[in-house]
Amino acid sequence: METRGRVFTLGVLLAVLAVLAGSALSATAAAAPDTSTASPADVTARRLTHAEREPGQWMAYGGTYSEQRFSELKQINTGNVNRLGLQWFADYETNQDQHGSPLYIDGVIYVSTARNVVYAFDGRTGRTLWKYNPMIHGERLRYNLGLVNRGIAAWNGKIIMGTIDGRLVAIDARNGRQVWSTDVIPASLGLGEMANHYSITMAPRVAKGKVFIGASGGEFGVRGFIAAFDAETGKEAWRFWTVPGDPAKGFESKALQRAAKTWDGQWWKVSGGGGTVWDGVLYDPVTDLLYFGTGNATPWNPRTREQDGGDNLYSACIIAVKPDTGEYVWHYQETPGDGWDYDAVSPMMTADLTIQGKQQHVILQPSKNGFFYVLEARTGRLLSADPFTVVNWATGVDMATGRPMVVPGARYRSDPWDLAPGVQGGHSWHPNAFSPQTGLVYIPAWEAYFTMAGIPPGAKVPPGFSLGIRMGAKVENLQPYDRQGVSGRLEAWDPVARKIVWETPQFANPRPTGGVLATAGNLVFMGNGGGKTLSAYDAKTGARLWSFDAQTAIFAAPISYTLDGVQYIAASVGGAAQGGYFAPTHARMLVFALDGKAVLPEPEPYTPPQLNPPPSTASAQVIAHGGDVYAQFCSTCHGVNGMQGRTSFPNLTVSPLLWTQGGFDGVVLMGARADKGMGSFAQDLKSEDTAAIRAYLIARANALKAGGPGAAAAAPPRQETGHAEN
Ligand code: CA
Repeated sequence: METRGRVFTLGVLLAVLAVLAGSALSATAAAAPDTSTASPADVTARRLTHAEREPGQWMAYGGTYSEQRFSELKQINTGNVNRLGLQWFADYETNQDQHGSPLYIDGVIYVSTARNVVYAFDGRTGRTLWKYNPMIHGERLRYNLGLVNRGIAAWNGKIIMGTIDGRLVAIDARNGRQVWSTDVIPASLGLGEMANHYSITMAPRVAKGKVFIGASGGEFGVRGFIAAFDAETGKEAWRFWTVPGDPAKGFESKALQRAAKTWDGQWWKVSGGGGTVWDGVLYDPVTDLLYFGTGNATPWNPRTREQDGGDNLYSACIIAVKPDTGEYVWHYQETPGDGWDYDAVSPMMTADLTIQGKQQHVILQPSKNGFFYVLEARTGRLLSADPFTVVNWATGVDMATGRPMVVPGARYRSDPWDLAPGVQGGHSWHPNAFSPQTGLVYIPAWEAYFTMAGIPPGAKVPPGFSLGIRMGAKVENLQPYDRQGVSGRLEAWDPVARKIVWETPQFANPRPTGGVLATAGNLVFMGNGGGKTLSAYDAKTGARLWSFDAQTAIFAAPISYTLDGVQYIAASVGGAAQGGYFAPTHARMLVFALDGKAVLPEPEPYTPPQLNPPPSTASAQVIAHGGDVYAQFCSTCHGVNGMQGRTSFPNLTVSPLLWTQGGFDGVVLMGARADKGMGSFAQDLKSEDTAAIRAYLIARANALKAGGPGAAAAAPPRQETGHAEN
């Protein structure tokens, strides 16, 4: 035991030194020669605005500014997709989930992977041209929902990315070296500790020389915003706060002054209000407007943020602003007075549709709250809103007022409500696609249930995971369903006829769907989490025509490109779904072409770590205190009752650090694994707290090892919240 303890102490010391070294360097790039050929990622305003003229490229997150994720390429089509094979693959060094949608520009694939590591691959061979690692670190890593990144932007020779620790960085596309780095939530904002509750996982968008980015944190009590930065220098141009701040300090705009009338109580003190901009952002050159969705009001339970539910503008809205100044133009609120985590941030797209005989330029969004919205892009006028999955919180949307007709019981004032869609969403961040050929929107749609049970009136919302909900509450007589969990499917939705045209059979949890690509070859590509397969479907009928065993979960949307006259499909794959945090994820870039002959290596056999705790010797009082502190600060990531939570975080009951308080504190208090996403909790926890947490985990591990009744059952059935997605 002694030896083992010392080994771990030394290991922790080395890890701390490594982190310090990383901080000093601030960023590293694998050595790569400067290339003197045509400048890489030479993406200009003209090229982006007319991206449809270059169908062989994929220069922006959603393909083009319309974000339809539709490729005009048709060399691969329904007639030959059965010949589609792996052309090359390139491994990532990560054991985390991959959400990053790649870009392809002039021969090079760029992709962001977990923990913000960016790769540039030769699009012909898969050779790694460079790798960039921003060395994430800092206090903001205490409050995140997964170390994922969903994508990057390209502009004038630079690859631009938001980082999990709240920076916006620009990388030289020639060599992977950092050009500039900006703190998106700087101390000058005067947010104090709240600044540490933000993280960034969304893809930045770029237009008119500016980069637009928001931040996650709606579950941790923050004030939402979107901000614009100069793409050449990283200097902030403007910031649009989505909810009002402390009225005593005055409002930043007339729009926020109006919004403040829809709140009461002291929301800015309780939780910052929420309304985070954590995914869907879209610049539309047709209207010259910037659109973005806003997240839930915070905390989830409206009675914990104010007395008598106002609309809480501008949470759960789609907002249009002027991209040059951030000036408010219009908003449409999907979920007034949100009490269900109905972020309105799902990816949006623009399209030109003939609605009731009239050509209309519209915004389309299948939202988390289960309704498919069609809005007039120039004015925000609601054209239609229809449920595209199981919805039980509203009977519909009143077209005269634009407001949902909420079922009274769904507000869970007195009795719990089995909500559909649950907080996982009817559709979350997974990108959709639209085919102008079929007129259909392809939605990775979920059927999701989640029990909403409020904390008792007057109970205080603890700091940290700020929701006001009894998580995992045991509930009798659940209304109106008695269903749990998530299943999902690929759904083809007609936005004009307002109905489902076809849908695949349901894929089961965990995490049933991925992002979508539609092509002019009459194909729709989508991967799935549990099934580990990438599939191609007939865009008109939904018939599955091809599939590939990726050996791992697939969440990111694939893209398509051409090189030397050959069409390729590229998919960034990898998910910790199959065996827990310590298992290899087989995370890779996979590139397919007709008659591709490459073969993936056989997955290595994997034995999960076994329970091997030291004896439990602490007092019942210490263990109970440890359990309380664990529930407040650790369970969000590491799982309720010390059971494995989300697969992208380690199960602590099998941790070797249970053998050494020094090693345990090195991680929890000193931030020894900050570069892996485990920030220091020194601000929140004292050493007696961490000793109690360790004692609690040792007790849990011993109980689990002993087995018998109550060991596993002590963990309530896990309600997959899907928040790793944020
Ligand atoms: Ca949310």
